[in-house]
Amino acid sequence: MKPTIDEQIKWQKQLLRNYPQAEFEGNAILTSLERLKQIDAQELVACNWKYIEDGYWQTDCGESFCLEEGTPEQNGMKYCHHCGKPLYTKPEAK
Ligand SMILES: [Zn+2]
Repeated sequence: MKPTIDEQIKWQKQLLRNYPQAEFEGNAILTSLERLKQIDAQELVACNWKYIEDGYWQTDCGESFCLEEGTPEQNGMKYCHHCGKPLYTKPEAK
């Protein structure tokens, strides 16, 4: 089974204690793991909406939705109306 990010963080911290000479590399890996963990949590709890074109958005839960103007946030949408999860749009979306 694939180790969870929490397990990997634990191992990495152990490695850092055993090999303090590799502190710089170890900390860099640790920072990446913590970041991954955040992204993971966000994607698990949220419905990600991706902008396609002409006002159409593709939702994580397999629906598409058309907005006449702006982003879901600008339209005051906080939740996906298909699956009920908090709505999240990728930062690059317009
Ligand atoms: Zn959804």
